[in-house]
Amino acid sequence: MNVQAPYRKYADLLAEYFPYKVQKLPVDGGFTCPNRDGTKGRGGCSYCLNSSFHPAYGQSSLSITEQLEKGKRFFAGHYPNMKYLAYFQSFTNTYAPLTELKRKYEEALQVPDVVGLVISTRPDCLSDEVLHYLKQLHTSSFVILEIGVESCDDQILKAVNRCHTFSESEDAIERATVVGIPVCAHVILGLSHFGTYTAREEAQCLSKMPISSVKIHQLQILRGTKLAHLYDETMRQQTSEPMISQQIFSCLSLSKYIDELGVFISHLRPDIAIERLVSQSPSELLIAPRWGMKPEAFQLCFEKYLTENGLFQGKFYDSFLRNVANKRTSNDIQY
Ligand code: SF4
Repeated sequence: MNVQAPYRKYADLLAEYFPYKVQKLPVDGGFTCPNRDGTKGRGGCSYCLNSSFHPAYGQSSLSITEQLEKGKRFFAGHYPNMKYLAYFQSFTNTYAPLTELKRKYEEALQVPDVVGLVISTRPDCLSDEVLHYLKQLHTSSFVILEIGVESCDDQILKAVNRCHTFSESEDAIERATVVGIPVCAHVILGLSHFGTYTAREEAQCLSKMPISSVKIHQLQILRGTKLAHLYDETMRQQTSEPMISQQIFSCLSLSKYIDELGVFISHLRPDIAIERLVSQSPSELLIAPRWGMKPEAFQLCFEKYLTENGLFQGKFYDSFLRNVANKRTSNDIQY
């Protein structure tokens, strides 16, 4: 970790692979999701609105090559020597027959200056056949899997209709790591209302897995989602029955999210790179929370908070490990 930084940045991880700057270019591969088409569930995760993460140049009506070329033009003016990673972001990007996956991934890698792939997927959509292919691909091109863990608490996963368990995340991450593919775990902070895990427990649980990075964002209520209906109901209840409003679902305030993130980072294993701290959905889609702060400003504010509070990544990680070891030792003695 950079000694100046209170946490390990994603750029540090990428620097281990590339001697130049790389930029992720979102690309819509035209995939769907088993939690929407009825294979695992219908209607999707309760917070999901895929249109919230489509950039202007990532449009499935364009070919993968066209999307990437458009994305490259967007960045080339700022960084002329930039190289790119094709970021298969929308829906579940390993949810198709292997021949289709090969065609799409390899089309992306044919685009000049595209030096690797970032593939976002669900933990229950990673067959050994796909992993075997990615292992081969990874010998000539950079490949990283972004796996939607979201929470380590099965109660939370069930409540937000993920339609997979945490053990499926553990299994997918383990199998990907065994074949040498680095894994980024995608997690959402602010879901603890739906289960028992706090930010501390989420960080401790993730730290036990062989992940190379995490991508974090706050729970957001987006228009048209199931969560938006729950939020509306909650707001109505809050108005009519203010006495019970303390116990019902709400979004984290900015200061509460910063606190939760501080707890999360300070319990997280120090070698795990932090790809993102916060997300910003388009204003017209976002119901709550509306903090009015851009991600860059949030980053500065959060780093200041860590410094002022003497916090840094992994500050409490060692003591957690010691506690686990002590418990094991005492259990051993008790037989
Ligand atoms: S969040 Fe991912 S897994 Fe859930 S419905 Fe949306 S695309 Fe599918």
